Amino acid sequence: MCEQFSFNTICKTCQNNLLKPDLSKRILKSGLIIYSFYDYDEIGDLLKAKKSYLGFYILNILAKLSLKKFAENWNGINLQAIPIDDKISEFGYSHTAILSHSMKSEKIKPLYNTIISQSGVKYFGQSLKFRQENKREFKLLRDISNLNIVLVDDVITTGSTFLEAEEKIKNGNGYPLFGITLASTNLTTN
Ligand SMILES: [Zn+2]
Repeated sequence: MCEQFSFNTICKTCQNNLLKPDLSKRILKSGLIIYSFYDYDEIGDLLKAKKSYLGFYILNILAKLSLKKFAENWNGINLQAIPIDDKISEFGYSHTAILSHSMKSEKIKPLYNTIISQSGVKYFGQSLKFRQENKREFKLLRDISNLNIVLVDDVITTGSTFLEAEEKIKNGNGYPLFGITLASTNLTTN
C-alpha cells in the first residue's frame, strides 16, 4: 500500500496505521446486531482481492487485526462462530471460513460447513430488489440446536443475508446472538 519493501502482503506500518479497525454496529429489523470493523469504502479494493490467490493473505491480515482481537477480548458465554456459506472458491479457500477461523479462542469455536446457500446466488454488487427476489436458500448441514451462535460474513450491505441466515438458525433451534463482519457498506435502495 505504501510501496515500502516488505515480505508481507501488506507491510507492518500499513497494517498498524491504514488498517486500524473501527468497530461499528448495525441493528437489523429482526433485532439482530451486526458488528463491523471497517468501512467498505476503506478496504473495498483490498477485499476485491478475495477473488484471487492473494485474497487468502489479505483476509488473514485483516482478520488478525479485527475479528481475532474481538474474539480474544470476548468474555461472554461460549459461542460457535458459524461462517455463512463457506464453500471453497476456485482459489482454494473460503473467505468466511478464514474469518471464523481467526475467531478461534478460549470461548469461541469455529463451526464450518454448517449453513450453505443452495441457490448459489451471489449478492455482491446487487440491488436490494435483486436480493429480495433471489433468496440464498440456506440449508443447515448439521444439528445446531441449543448452540449459541455468532454468524460470520465478510461484508454487510442490506442485511438480507444475515436475516435469512438468522431465520434458518432459529428454525434449527439454535440461538443467533449477533453477527460479525469485516466491513460494512451502505447500498442505495431507491
Ligand atoms: Zn506499507
